Amino acid sequence: MEFSSFKSHSRFLDPRRNFAQSEVPSEIRVDPITQRTSRVCHFSLPGIPPFDWENLKSPAKKGFCPFCPDTIESVTPKFPPDVIPEGRLFEGEATLMPNLMPYDEHSAVCVLTKAHVVPIEELLSSTIKSGFLLCARYLKAVREISPTQEPLYGTLHMNFMPPSGGSLIHPHMQTFATRFPGNLHRLYLEKTKEYARDGQKNAFKDMIEAERQNGARYMGQLSKVHALTSFASFGLLGDILFVAEDVRDWFEDGVSQLGYLATLVSRTLKFFADLNLISFNLALFSGAPKDGGFTSFALLTPRLFIDPRVLAPDVSALRFLYDEPFSVVYPEDIAEKLKPYLKL
Ligand SMILES: [Zn+2]
Repeated sequence: MEFSSFKSHSRFLDPRRNFAQSEVPSEIRVDPITQRTSRVCHFSLPGIPPFDWENLKSPAKKGFCPFCPDTIESVTPKFPPDVIPEGRLFEGEATLMPNLMPYDEHSAVCVLTKAHVVPIEELLSSTIKSGFLLCARYLKAVREISPTQEPLYGTLHMNFMPPSGGSLIHPHMQTFATRFPGNLHRLYLEKTKEYARDGQKNAFKDMIEAERQNGARYMGQLSKVHALTSFASFGLLGDILFVAEDVRDWFEDGVSQLGYLATLVSRTLKFFADLNLISFNLALFSGAPKDGGFTSFALLTPRLFIDPRVLAPDVSALRFLYDEPFSVVYPEDIAEKLKPYLKL
Protein backbone atom coordinates (compact mmCIF):
# COMPACT_ATOMS: atom_id res chain seq x y z
CA MET A 1 0.00 0.00 0.00
CA GLU A 2 1.56 3.27 -1.14
CA PHE A 3 1.01 6.71 0.31
CA SER A 4 2.58 8.90 -2.40
CA SER A 5 2.91 12.65 -2.23
CA PHE A 6 4.64 15.22 -4.39
CA LYS A 7 5.79 18.48 -2.84
CA SER A 8 6.55 21.71 -4.64
CA HIS A 9 7.13 25.41 -4.03
CA SER A 10 5.74 28.38 -5.90
CA ARG A 11 7.91 31.54 -6.02
CA PHE A 12 6.67 35.11 -6.32
CA LEU A 13 7.59 38.65 -5.30
CA ASP A 14 5.32 39.20 -2.34
CA PRO A 15 3.51 42.56 -1.90
CA ARG A 16 2.97 41.70 1.78
CA ARG A 17 6.75 41.63 2.25
CA ASN A 18 7.66 44.70 0.24
CA PHE A 19 8.01 42.52 -2.88
CA ALA A 20 10.70 40.31 -1.42
CA GLN A 21 10.65 36.80 -2.85
CA SER A 22 8.34 34.32 -1.09
CA GLU A 23 8.22 30.59 -1.53
CA VAL A 24 4.86 28.98 -0.86
CA PRO A 25 4.68 25.19 -0.49
CA SER A 26 1.99 22.92 -1.90
CA GLU A 27 1.57 19.18 -2.02
CA ILE A 28 -0.23 16.68 -4.21
CA ARG A 29 -1.27 13.48 -2.47
CA VAL A 30 -2.44 10.23 -4.04
CA ASP A 31 -5.11 8.26 -2.23
CA PRO A 32 -3.68 4.81 -1.44
CA ILE A 33 -6.87 2.97 -2.46
CA THR A 34 -8.43 4.97 -5.31
CA GLN A 35 -5.28 6.70 -6.64
CA ARG A 36 -7.31 9.90 -6.81
CA THR A 37 -5.23 13.01 -6.23
CA SER A 38 -5.89 15.83 -3.78
CA ARG A 39 -3.92 18.96 -3.02
CA VAL A 40 -2.83 20.47 0.24
CA CYS A 41 -2.17 24.15 -0.31
CA HIS A 42 -2.95 27.76 0.71
CA PHE A 43 -2.68 26.89 4.43
CA SER A 44 -4.69 29.84 5.64
CA LEU A 45 -7.74 28.87 7.59
CA PRO A 46 -10.43 31.47 7.11
CA GLY A 47 -11.45 33.19 10.35
CA ILE A 48 -14.78 31.64 11.29
CA PRO A 49 -17.04 33.85 13.43
CA PRO A 50 -19.35 32.28 16.06
CA PHE A 51 -22.78 31.42 14.66
CA ASP A 52 -26.08 32.67 16.09
CA TRP A 53 -28.27 29.53 16.30
CA GLU A 54 -31.01 31.41 18.20
CA ASN A 55 -31.54 33.69 15.22
CA LEU A 56 -32.65 30.68 13.15
CA LYS A 57 -35.60 30.17 15.50
CA SER A 58 -37.15 33.57 14.73
CA PRO A 59 -40.39 33.31 12.68
CA ALA A 60 -38.89 35.43 9.88
CA LYS A 61 -35.95 33.05 9.47
CA LYS A 62 -37.93 29.88 10.03
CA GLY A 63 -40.60 30.21 7.36
CA PHE A 64 -42.49 27.01 6.56
CA CYS A 65 -40.91 23.75 7.69
CA PRO A 66 -42.49 20.43 6.61
CA PHE A 67 -40.51 18.52 9.25
CA CYS A 68 -41.78 20.35 12.38
CA PRO A 69 -44.19 18.43 14.67
CA ASP A 70 -47.19 20.60 13.71
CA THR A 71 -46.83 19.90 9.98
CA ILE A 72 -45.00 16.59 9.52
CA GLU A 73 -48.13 14.44 9.78
CA SER A 74 -50.16 16.34 7.17
CA VAL A 75 -47.61 17.47 4.56
CA THR A 76 -45.10 14.61 4.30
CA PRO A 77 -45.79 11.51 2.19
CA LYS A 78 -46.41 7.93 3.29
CA PHE A 79 -45.16 4.69 1.73
CA PRO A 80 -47.59 2.50 -0.23
CA PRO A 81 -48.69 -0.51 1.88
CA ASP A 82 -46.69 -2.98 -0.23
CA VAL A 83 -43.46 -1.09 0.58
CA ILE A 84 -43.92 -0.12 4.25
CA PRO A 85 -47.34 -1.22 5.59
CA GLU A 86 -47.16 1.26 8.52
CA GLY A 87 -46.78 4.20 6.06
CA ARG A 88 -43.85 5.71 7.94
CA LEU A 89 -41.20 4.31 10.29
CA PHE A 90 -40.44 5.62 13.79
CA GLU A 91 -37.56 5.25 16.25
CA GLY A 92 -37.04 7.58 19.22
CA GLU A 93 -37.77 11.08 17.93
CA ALA A 94 -36.98 10.08 14.34
CA THR A 95 -39.50 9.59 11.53
CA LEU A 96 -38.68 8.05 8.15
CA MET A 97 -40.88 8.78 5.12
CA PRO A 98 -40.66 8.69 1.32
CA ASN A 99 -38.59 11.41 -0.30
CA LEU A 100 -40.96 13.77 -2.14
CA MET A 101 -38.04 14.33 -4.51
CA PRO A 102 -36.69 10.79 -4.93
CA TYR A 103 -33.21 9.96 -6.22
CA ASP A 104 -34.18 6.44 -7.28
CA GLU A 105 -37.05 3.95 -7.05
CA HIS A 106 -36.56 3.53 -3.30
CA SER A 107 -35.68 6.87 -1.73
CA ALA A 108 -36.47 8.12 1.76
CA VAL A 109 -35.91 11.01 4.17
CA CYS A 110 -35.45 10.56 7.89
CA VAL A 111 -36.32 13.54 10.12
CA LEU A 112 -34.16 13.18 13.22
CA THR A 113 -35.62 15.47 15.86
CA LYS A 114 -38.77 17.24 16.98
CA ALA A 115 -36.75 20.46 17.43
CA HIS A 116 -36.44 22.59 14.31
CA VAL A 117 -33.03 23.99 15.21
CA VAL A 118 -30.36 21.76 16.73
CA PRO A 119 -26.91 23.34 17.08
CA ILE A 120 -24.22 21.05 15.72
CA GLU A 121 -22.78 20.27 19.16
CA GLU A 122 -26.22 19.19 20.39
CA LEU A 123 -26.71 16.55 17.73
CA LEU A 124 -26.56 13.57 20.07
CA SER A 125 -25.14 10.17 19.35
CA SER A 126 -28.54 8.61 20.25
CA THR A 127 -30.29 10.91 17.73
CA ILE A 128 -27.90 9.99 14.92
CA LYS A 129 -28.14 6.31 15.85
CA SER A 130 -31.96 6.37 15.65
CA GLY A 131 -31.70 7.78 12.13
CA PHE A 132 -29.13 5.17 11.08
CA LEU A 133 -31.30 2.34 12.42
CA LEU A 134 -34.42 3.62 10.68
CA CYS A 135 -32.54 3.85 7.37
CA ALA A 136 -31.29 0.28 7.91
CA ARG A 137 -34.88 -0.92 8.56
CA TYR A 138 -36.07 0.84 5.41
CA LEU A 139 -33.29 -0.60 3.22
CA LYS A 140 -33.98 -4.09 4.57
CA ALA A 141 -37.67 -3.70 3.72
CA VAL A 142 -37.10 -2.50 0.15
CA ARG A 143 -34.53 -5.22 -0.51
CA GLU A 144 -37.04 -7.82 0.60
CA ILE A 145 -39.56 -6.71 -2.00
CA SER A 146 -37.00 -6.23 -4.80
CA PRO A 147 -35.85 -8.82 -7.35
CA THR A 148 -32.47 -10.18 -6.35
CA GLN A 149 -30.65 -10.53 -9.69
CA GLU A 150 -28.77 -7.27 -9.21
CA PRO A 151 -27.69 -5.98 -5.80
CA LEU A 152 -29.31 -2.90 -4.35
CA TYR A 153 -26.65 -0.72 -2.78
CA GLY A 154 -27.72 1.09 0.36
CA THR A 155 -26.68 4.72 0.67
CA LEU A 156 -27.13 7.15 3.54
CA HIS A 157 -26.08 10.75 3.55
CA MET A 158 -26.53 13.91 5.55
CA ASN A 159 -26.30 17.55 4.47
CA PHE A 160 -26.39 19.45 7.75
CA MET A 161 -27.01 23.18 7.40
CA PRO A 162 -26.82 25.26 4.19
CA PRO A 163 -23.03 25.34 3.58
CA SER A 164 -23.25 21.56 3.02
CA GLY A 165 -26.02 21.88 0.42
CA GLY A 166 -28.75 21.25 3.00
CA SER A 167 -31.75 23.43 2.19
CA LEU A 168 -33.82 22.51 5.27
CA ILE A 169 -32.51 23.53 8.68
CA HIS A 170 -34.50 20.84 10.49
CA PRO A 171 -32.02 17.94 11.08
CA HIS A 172 -32.58 15.06 8.69
CA MET A 173 -30.74 12.41 6.69
CA GLN A 174 -31.47 10.72 3.38
CA THR A 175 -31.21 7.15 2.22
CA PHE A 176 -31.84 5.37 -1.03
CA ALA A 177 -31.30 1.93 -2.51
CA THR A 178 -29.78 1.78 -5.95
CA ARG A 179 -28.37 -0.54 -8.59
CA PHE A 180 -26.15 2.34 -9.68
CA PRO A 181 -23.87 3.43 -6.84
CA GLY A 182 -22.38 6.90 -7.35
CA ASN A 183 -19.10 7.49 -9.16
CA LEU A 184 -16.90 7.58 -6.08
CA HIS A 185 -18.71 4.67 -4.46
CA ARG A 186 -18.21 2.64 -7.67
CA LEU A 187 -14.53 3.58 -7.81
CA TYR A 188 -14.00 2.24 -4.28
CA LEU A 189 -15.88 -0.96 -5.21
CA GLU A 190 -13.73 -1.44 -8.31
CA LYS A 191 -10.39 -0.57 -6.71
CA THR A 192 -10.91 -2.78 -3.66
CA LYS A 193 -11.92 -5.65 -5.93
CA GLU A 194 -8.81 -5.12 -8.08
CA TYR A 195 -6.63 -5.06 -4.97
CA ALA A 196 -8.22 -8.23 -3.57
CA ARG A 197 -7.46 -10.15 -6.75
CA ASP A 198 -3.74 -9.84 -6.04
CA GLY A 199 -3.61 -12.59 -3.44
CA GLN A 200 -6.93 -12.22 -1.57
CA LYS A 201 -5.85 -9.03 0.12
CA ASN A 202 -8.17 -6.41 1.59
CA ALA A 203 -7.29 -2.82 0.69
CA PHE A 204 -8.93 -1.21 3.72
CA LYS A 205 -7.42 -3.74 6.12
CA ASP A 206 -3.95 -3.03 4.73
CA MET A 207 -4.58 0.70 4.76
CA ILE A 208 -5.72 0.63 8.40
CA GLU A 209 -2.68 -1.43 9.38
CA ALA A 210 -0.32 0.99 7.61
CA GLU A 211 -2.09 3.99 9.18
CA ARG A 212 -2.00 2.44 12.64
CA GLN A 213 1.73 1.89 12.36
CA ASN A 214 2.31 5.37 10.98
CA GLY A 215 0.13 6.93 13.68
CA ALA A 216 -0.05 10.45 12.22
CA ARG A 217 -3.64 10.14 10.98
CA TYR A 218 -4.91 7.14 12.93
CA MET A 219 -6.94 8.01 16.04
CA GLY A 220 -8.15 4.66 17.38
CA GLN A 221 -11.10 2.33 17.23
CA LEU A 222 -14.51 1.83 18.87
CA SER A 223 -15.67 -1.77 18.49
CA LYS A 224 -14.96 -2.50 14.79
CA VAL A 225 -15.00 1.15 13.68
CA HIS A 226 -11.59 2.76 13.12
CA ALA A 227 -11.25 6.55 13.07
CA LEU A 228 -8.64 8.38 11.00
CA THR A 229 -8.23 11.37 8.75
CA SER A 230 -8.05 10.82 4.98
CA PHE A 231 -4.51 10.90 3.58
CA ALA A 232 -5.87 12.69 0.48
CA SER A 233 -8.84 14.82 1.57
CA PHE A 234 -12.06 15.72 -0.20
CA GLY A 235 -12.97 18.71 1.98
CA LEU A 236 -11.35 22.12 2.26
CA LEU A 237 -10.79 21.37 5.94
CA GLY A 238 -10.01 17.69 5.38
CA ASP A 239 -12.25 14.77 6.21
CA ILE A 240 -12.71 12.16 8.88
CA LEU A 241 -12.74 8.58 7.68
CA PHE A 242 -14.47 5.81 9.65
CA VAL A 243 -13.76 2.26 8.52
CA ALA A 244 -15.77 -0.71 9.84
CA GLU A 245 -13.33 -3.60 9.82
CA ASP A 246 -14.72 -6.88 8.41
CA VAL A 247 -18.07 -5.23 7.64
CA ARG A 248 -19.32 -5.36 4.04
CA ASP A 249 -22.61 -3.49 4.39
CA TRP A 250 -23.44 -1.00 7.15
CA PHE A 251 -27.11 -1.96 6.77
CA GLU A 252 -26.73 -5.76 6.96
CA ASP A 253 -23.71 -7.23 8.74
CA GLY A 254 -22.80 -3.75 10.02
CA VAL A 255 -26.04 -2.81 11.82
CA SER A 256 -24.48 -3.53 15.23
CA GLN A 257 -21.71 -1.02 14.38
CA LEU A 258 -24.05 1.88 13.53
CA GLY A 259 -24.29 2.95 17.18
CA TYR A 260 -20.50 3.13 17.46
CA LEU A 261 -20.33 5.13 14.24
CA ALA A 262 -22.99 7.50 15.62
CA THR A 263 -20.91 7.99 18.79
CA LEU A 264 -17.78 8.82 16.78
CA VAL A 265 -19.69 11.21 14.52
CA SER A 266 -21.29 12.97 17.49
CA ARG A 267 -17.91 13.39 19.26
CA THR A 268 -16.38 14.76 16.04
CA LEU A 269 -19.21 17.30 15.79
CA LYS A 270 -18.19 18.70 19.18
CA PHE A 271 -14.72 19.26 17.73
CA PHE A 272 -16.26 21.04 14.72
CA ALA A 273 -18.36 23.19 17.07
CA ASP A 274 -15.26 24.30 18.96
CA LEU A 275 -13.88 25.56 15.63
CA ASN A 276 -17.16 27.50 15.04
CA LEU A 277 -18.01 25.11 12.20
CA ILE A 278 -21.77 24.62 11.84
CA SER A 279 -22.15 22.36 8.82
CA PHE A 280 -21.05 18.98 7.48
CA ASN A 281 -21.64 16.24 4.92
CA LEU A 282 -21.73 12.62 5.98
CA ALA A 283 -21.89 9.63 3.61
CA LEU A 284 -21.90 5.90 4.34
CA PHE A 285 -20.51 3.48 1.74
CA SER A 286 -21.48 -0.20 1.61
CA GLY A 287 -20.74 -3.19 -0.61
CA ALA A 288 -22.86 -6.01 -2.04
CA PRO A 289 -22.21 -9.74 -1.50
CA LYS A 290 -20.36 -9.90 -4.83
CA ASP A 291 -17.92 -7.17 -3.81
CA GLY A 292 -15.12 -9.26 -2.37
CA GLY A 293 -12.45 -7.16 -0.69
CA PHE A 294 -14.74 -4.22 0.03
CA THR A 295 -15.00 -2.81 3.54
CA SER A 296 -17.73 -0.43 4.69
CA PHE A 297 -16.65 3.07 5.52
CA ALA A 298 -18.04 6.55 6.09
CA LEU A 299 -16.74 10.02 5.26
CA LEU A 300 -17.52 13.03 7.45
CA THR A 301 -16.47 16.39 6.04
CA PRO A 302 -16.98 19.83 7.57
CA ARG A 303 -18.41 22.40 5.16
CA LEU A 304 -18.31 26.17 5.34
CA PHE A 305 -18.86 29.42 3.54
CA ILE A 306 -15.29 30.67 3.13
CA ASP A 307 -16.72 34.18 3.26
CA PRO A 308 -20.16 34.21 4.92
CA ARG A 309 -20.72 37.87 3.95
CA VAL A 310 -20.91 37.00 0.25
CA LEU A 311 -21.94 33.35 0.73
CA ALA A 312 -18.77 32.08 -1.00
CA PRO A 313 -18.89 28.27 -0.77
CA ASP A 314 -15.86 26.04 -0.14
CA VAL A 315 -16.23 24.28 -3.51
CA SER A 316 -15.16 25.98 -6.73
CA ALA A 317 -14.39 24.88 -10.32
CA LEU A 318 -11.24 23.02 -9.30
CA ARG A 319 -13.23 20.70 -7.07
CA PHE A 320 -16.56 20.79 -8.90
CA LEU A 321 -15.55 20.56 -12.58
CA TYR A 322 -11.94 19.29 -12.56
CA ASP A 323 -12.90 16.99 -9.66
CA GLU A 324 -9.63 17.89 -7.93
CA PRO A 325 -10.11 18.51 -4.21
CA PHE A 326 -7.84 20.73 -2.22
CA SER A 327 -7.58 21.35 1.48
CA VAL A 328 -5.96 24.12 3.46
CA VAL A 329 -5.02 21.97 6.45
CA TYR A 330 -2.86 18.90 6.86
CA PRO A 331 -4.80 15.73 7.75
CA GLU A 332 -2.11 15.00 10.35
CA ASP A 333 -2.85 18.29 12.15
CA ILE A 334 -6.59 17.59 12.20
CA ALA A 335 -5.99 14.12 13.63
CA GLU A 336 -3.82 15.52 16.41
CA LYS A 337 -6.48 18.08 17.40
CA LEU A 338 -9.50 15.77 17.01
CA LYS A 339 -8.02 12.77 18.82
CA PRO A 340 -8.80 13.95 22.38
CA TYR A 341 -12.45 14.50 21.44
CA LEU A 342 -12.86 10.91 20.26
CA LYS A 343 -11.76 9.48 23.66
CA LEU A 344 -10.50 6.21 22.14
ZN1 LIG B 1 -38.75 22.26 11.37
